[in-house]
Amino acid sequence: MSGYDLVIIGAGPAGLSCGYEAIRQGQQPLILEQDSVVGGIARTVRFGDYYFDLGGHRFFTKQPEVEQIWHTILGSELLRRPRLSRIYYNNRLIGYPLRPLDCLAKLGVLQSLLVIGSYIRARLRPVAEAEDLAQWMTNRFGRRLYQMFFQAYTEKVWGMPAQQISSDWAAQRVKSLSVAEVLKNALGLAGGRHRSLIGQFEYPRLGVGMMWRRMADLIGDGGGRIAFQHQVGQIHHQDGQVMAVTAHTPQGRREYRASHFVSSMPLRELILSLEPAAPAAVRRAAKALRYRNMITVMLIVNEPDIFPDNWIYIQSPHVQVGRIQNYKNWSPDMVPDAAKTSLGLEYYCWEDGDSWHMPQEELIALGQQECAELELINPDQVVAGTVARVPKAYPVYDRGYAQRVGTIREYLSSLPNLQVIGRNGMHRYNNMDHSMMTGLLAARNICGEDHNLWQVNVGEDYLETADK
Ligand SMILES: Cc1cc2nc3c(=O)[nH]c(=O)nc-3n(C[C@H](O)[C@H](O)[C@H](O)COP(=O)(O)OP(=O)(O)OC[C@H]3O[C@@H](n4cnc5c(N)ncnc54)[C@H](O)[C@@H]3O)c2cc1C
Repeated sequence: MSGYDLVIIGAGPAGLSCGYEAIRQGQQPLILEQDSVVGGIARTVRFGDYYFDLGGHRFFTKQPEVEQIWHTILGSELLRRPRLSRIYYNNRLIGYPLRPLDCLAKLGVLQSLLVIGSYIRARLRPVAEAEDLAQWMTNRFGRRLYQMFFQAYTEKVWGMPAQQISSDWAAQRVKSLSVAEVLKNALGLAGGRHRSLIGQFEYPRLGVGMMWRRMADLIGDGGGRIAFQHQVGQIHHQDGQVMAVTAHTPQGRREYRASHFVSSMPLRELILSLEPAAPAAVRRAAKALRYRNMITVMLIVNEPDIFPDNWIYIQSPHVQVGRIQNYKNWSPDMVPDAAKTSLGLEYYCWEDGDSWHMPQEELIALGQQECAELELINPDQVVAGTVARVPKAYPVYDRGYAQRVGTIREYLSSLPNLQVIGRNGMHRYNNMDHSMMTGLLAARNICGEDHNLWQVNVGEDYLETADK
């Protein structure tokens, strides 16, 4: 048993940012990480001399502080990259933002007119209280545009009809892109480009994982410690204080005492790990939280230029793949042989679903076959492949999730020396920047500041179309 000022659970972007800030504040944190590497779902995997992100991670933020940390840590290794992403719809690749001639050429005059008509109809007669994703998107884009550009991909990600997905997700992601802007873009009338349509983004030379490896080194240099293969299984509390956590390690169980605890482990598991157990209603709420898993199939193809996009959304219900990354377009240094291309195919599934357990060879064959079906590659040109499984890639925003999180949050306020941060840690659809921000603020709270972490990523005018 050891005693620390601060124990942090998880060495993803949120946990590492908390450790980094704790060191800047003069503390020496201990980070317990179940995996053998840092970065969580924002890690970069190495396959031979090829690098791939589990899903490409753009560095974009409206938080100046986070941006400064990225630049300080990565310096000239943070590249500015051109952005191109298109939507695969009906055997065609349609550029986004929409361009009138491109749309006319690919959708045809009739379809384009129907899109505009359906948009006008939605604007004239919107659903008053749009509670689910389908209604919310239809209100903003019109039914046709929603069905063409969002429905199939979104339903693949979430594994359920859009009518069962809370509109909170879209509201968090699509905030201020009005259809007027979309149409202005489509008709070529837009003056300035919307934030979500920006044509560039920042990205580390060897993938997002570079950021987390460097941050981990800085934490070590500053006197902090990261203990790998330490899976926190029990959280012991008494009289309104968390006293210790027990981690399962290859050497057996280890208990760590501390004055403060910060957790980025999934909220469901956190609640179910409490000893003594949380009240029945809180446990029920935790057990009902759901997550979507993701599988990335990486294929190395013996062709230099397959498509120029960073990624493509696959709006085709006939294949299971939801999005395809082309890593050399993120950073050429991620692919050691310019004559080859590495693709990352994203598949989404439930933790008890069949595809989650599919053998690697079958997944590679599926990826190969679907890319051929989409006429992106010649399957004979695939020279190697590998698979990365990402548990709990997406905290699910189904109907009722917000109430469950509310119940849990209220209970957690009775344990003031335990703070929850990050994406699954708060069951909140946070990108890296917001995940990092919660970690930074949690460390400052320990030093006497008073930040409400639940206010991070609330009501902020954000960047995206329904990208992630
Ligand atoms: C496909 C995809 C694409 C994305 N693209 C972008 C993008 O372009 N830009 C962007 O900004 N963000 C993007 N994100 C979001 C980004 O990945 C997350 O915001 C970020 O990784 C969350 O960081 P975190 O530390 O909260 O969680 P995680 O990354 O999940 O880290 C949590 C860590 O805790 C560890 N852990 C869990 N349980 C325990 C336990 N019991 N004991 C010990 N350790 C434990 C895990 O192993 C993990 O290392 C994307 C996400 C996905 C899935």
